[in-house]
Amino acid sequence: MKVGHETLAALVYKAAWLKDRGLPNVMETSMSKLYGAKVVVHDANECMKLFGSFGYSDEYPCGRFLRDSKQFETLEGTSNMHTMIVANAAMGFAPNRA
Ligand SMILES: Cc1cc2nc3c(=O)[nH]c(=O)nc-3n(C[C@H](O)[C@H](O)[C@H](O)COP(=O)(O)OP(=O)(O)OC[C@H]3O[C@@H](n4cnc5c(N)ncnc54)[C@H](O)[C@@H]3O)c2cc1C
Repeated sequence: MKVGHETLAALVYKAAWLKDRGLPNVMETSMSKLYGAKVVVHDANECMKLFGSFGYSDEYPCGRFLRDSKQFETLEGTSNMHTMIVANAAMGFAPNRA
């Protein structure tokens, strides 16, 4: 979980740094959103496992974390769409715009 958070922070700060300077950042911004969605879903899943059967109970917030985390794969650009944006920019099929 810690590795995921640190890696995600590095991606987000790089995208923000580029955006602040008016430099091409669409690929880095999409990488941040795409990877962020993976990290929150992974961590919510790990939370469920750590709490065992209590993770499934409404007495603890783990189940809600897992349900809420899944929205990051859909809202504000689905993970499929961000994957396509990253792939197109990385392979030179589309420019990495500012
Ligand atoms: C609670 C809630 C709040 C929302 N709030 C906002 C908001 O504040 N602002 C806003 O703009 N929108 C909002 N939305 C809409 C949200 O952004 C859309 O749900 C999202 O863009 C996905 O569109 P869709 O639901 O029409 O799914 P679809 O476009 O029908 O996609 C369904 C699935 O197919 C995949 N898919 C679709 N086309 C392709 C393709 N060409 N290649 C590969 N995979 C593809 C998608 O990745 C997804 O997994 C909200 C939605 C909900 C449920």
